[in-house]
Order: sequence, then structure tokens, then C-alpha cells
Amino acid sequence: MGLKIETKNLTPALAAEIAAICPFGAIEADGAKLSINAACKNCKLCVKKSNGVITWEDEEKPAVDKSKFVGVAVFGEVRYGKLLPVTLELLGKARELADQIAHPVYAVLIGENLKGAAEDALRHGADKAYCYDHEQLKYRTVVPFTACIKDFIDTVKPSSVLFGATNFGRSLAPRVAARCGAGLTADCTMLEMKENTDLVQIRPAFGGNIMARIVSPQARPQFCTVRYKTFDALPRSEELTGEVVNVTVTDAMLQSGTEVLSVAEKPKEVDISDADVIVACGRGFQKKEDLALAQELADLIGAQVACSRPLAESGWMDAKHQIGLSGRTVKPKLIITLGISGTVQFTAGMKASDFIVAINADPDASIFEVAHVGVVGDLYEVVPKLIEKIKEGRENV
Ligand SMILES: Cc1cc2nc3c(=O)[nH]c(=O)nc-3n(C[C@H](O)[C@H](O)[C@H](O)COP(=O)(O)OP(=O)(O)OC[C@H]3O[C@@H](n4cnc5c(N)ncnc54)[C@H](O)[C@@H]3O)c2cc1C
Repeated sequence: MGLKIETKNLTPALAAEIAAICPFGAIEADGAKLSINAACKNCKLCVKKSNGVITWEDEEKPAVDKSKFVGVAVFGEVRYGKLLPVTLELLGKARELADQIAHPVYAVLIGENLKGAAEDALRHGADKAYCYDHEQLKYRTVVPFTACIKDFIDTVKPSSVLFGATNFGRSLAPRVAARCGAGLTADCTMLEMKENTDLVQIRPAFGGNIMARIVSPQARPQFCTVRYKTFDALPRSEELTGEVVNVTVTDAMLQSGTEVLSVAEKPKEVDISDADVIVACGRGFQKKEDLALAQELADLIGAQVACSRPLAESGWMDAKHQIGLSGRTVKPKLIITLGISGTVQFTAGMKASDFIVAINADPDASIFEVAHVGVVGDLYEVVPKLIEKIKEGRENV
């Protein structure tokens, strides 16, 4: 696939004329010769304007036999012997997608002493849990993990593979996809399954202004990452059905240029993604000190305080507290937004919350389109009254 130059009728004058077509300076003329340099953006303007001197040739790709790829697989990320919650959520989604095309659901687990985690995967929607269980896989090192998943893909040939968009998942998924010569869609917010087993990977694009529907009709497996709290896990089944497949881990799979010398645990921080109740602050706050008002409300109702991006950017709150497209996805039972306008980039990270209360001075603010209860008013007046009412209510109980 690429640009092809027809040299037959080229003259120095014509070559110079064609070189001038490219706005990026990617066509170089040397006498009656033309060449394309690395500045080429494949915009194909030269193909349109060079009267057949430069043409575009598509490489014929052999059609993939989709019937040979069966199953929706989930990379089961294990920490301290337990599956991460995002894996359980992905298994729930995988079950729904797989049922539409009568495919099985697989979990791929890599680590040490995986029996308990493998059974948990079966109780949360997997038909089979493939375990690469080895003491040298105790720590998450990306090269051996890539080799294990590649082995799973070569053996089982799943149609789709889903990864949690954790720090490790974001490092692992593209490596696996590259080894398979396939694409990867990061941070999907929705997934749909077509009858022909094409996975429709939906995610915000162009700064969140459109929802892109991405399919890979020519490639198998189809790879994507999904953030924590995007989908719901299935309830844990009391009945243990399905099969645990213990795969032999070979020396080749364990090859790694990385040696883990020691592991230092980071102090556990409260993650707003796990919060049941959130008070989220936006640019309606006039100064950092005023956030004490939000903190008072949050303390009263047992909430975590979070923010929109401008507050994180101005250093008023840590970036870990930012909700949205470039921040965290949250799904609390209750979220109260204070002085947040409700741009798509913000709501992308919170609109699945169970109950949304919005306080905003502007009756036309878009946050009211996703809110279950909207209060039009000045947060500096409404929040103190709300605090007062909650305190009063408690005293009267
Ligand atoms: C690629 C990209 C990614 C982005 N990712 C994120 C993201 O992850 N998270 C995010 O939040 N943003 C993100 N943004 C930025 C986003 O577009 C908005 O700029 C941002 O969400 C606006 O934050 P805000 O609602 O706090 O501020 P504003 O849009 O300025 O809204 C402030 C609101 O406060 C109200 N208000 C003012 N005074 C008061 C008052 N006294 N009482 C009550 N209400 C009052 C106003 O009516 C207004 O609606 C992203 C943008 C891009 C391009």
C-alpha cells in the first residue's frame, strides 16, 4: 500500500511542478526524478492533482476467516490472588457480547497460585479460565505476560480480547495487539457485537465531540481496553460451573529483560472511582479556599470530593480527583455537582452515576440534561442552605 510514481514522461519542469503540489514539502524533485520523503502525511493531494504521475496502490489483504476465531476473552488482572474489579466488569460485558453470537467467554489469568482467581472468573461469567500459573510470573512483568497471552491467542484463537485500562493493561494490550498484527481501541466506553462477530468499539473522539464507532473487519482478534466502572459485573454465581485449564508455562514464555529486585507498595489512596457518594466541584467556585464549602458538605454526607478539569489544571485539586474523559470514570450512587457546566468531556466520566444532583446558576447549563435533580441557583447560597437542612434533619431524627 502506498504512493507510486510513474517516471515515463517526467521532465525536470513537470517534476518541479508536481513537487510544488505537496503542502508538506514531502515530494522532492531532482532533475526529472521524483521521490517522496518522510514528511508525507498520505493526504493523497498529489494523487488528485498530478494527472496520473503519482498514484495510490492498495495492497490486497487476504480476507480473514472469521469463523476460525471463536470466543470473547478477557485478560484477568490479578492482584494479591484476587481479580481486579475491572476484570469482573469486563467478564460481565463479555458474557453479554458472547451470548449474542453464541460464543464462549474465556478468562486468561497469569500469575502465581491462580486457582481462587480462576474460580472467581468462572463465577462471574467465564466458561473457561486459562491459567498461566508459575512462580516466576508472580510479578506483573510485561514481556512474559505478552508471551503468555500470545500463546493463548495462538492456541485458542478468540475473536475479541478485552483488557482493563489499568496502568498495566494499557502497557500490555498494545504489545499483544502488535504481536498479532492487529489494531487496538483504547478506552472504549461502549461495546456492541455484530452478527458477523465484528466488535463495535465505541469511544469519544475529537476531544469528546463525537462518538467514534470503530470496527476491525479485516483483523482477528479484535483488541480493546475499557476503563474501570464502565460496565457492570454480573452477580457472583454460587454455583461453580465451567472449566479451569492449566497451561504449561515454557521457558520461552518466561524470557524477560526485566528482573524484579523488590516491590514497594504505594500507600493506599482513596480512589474516587470507588466512591459511593461524590461532591464534584467546578469553575463555579471563585477561589480555592471556597472549596472548604464542598468539603463540609462532603464530610456531612460521607462523600469524596472531586472536580472538573479546570480545577485540576489550576492546582486546586490533585489530578487524581478529576472526573471525565481525561480523568477518572465514576459511577457512584449519588453525585452532587457544584458549578459544573456539564461539557461532554466531563459527563463522559460520570453520566452512568445512579443519581445526579446538579447545582448551577445557569438554567441552560448542559449538566441539567444528565441530572436527575437540578437546582438553578448560586452555589454560594444553595450549598450553605443544603448543609443547614441536612444538619437540621439529623438533629430531628
Ligand atoms: C480532549 C479534552 C479532554 C477533556 N477532558 C476533561 C475531563 O476529563 N474532565 C473535565 O471536567 N473537563 C475536561 N475537558 C474540559 C471541558 O471541555 C471543560 O472545559 C470543563 O469540563 C469545564 O469545567 P467546568 O464545568 O468546571 O467549567 P465551566 O464550563 O466554566 O462551567 C462553570 C459553570 O459554573 C456555573 N457557575 C458559575 N458561577 C456559579 C455559582 N456561583 N453558582 C453555581 N454555578 C455557577 C456556570 O453557570 C457554568 O455552567 C476536556 C477537554 C478536552 C478538549
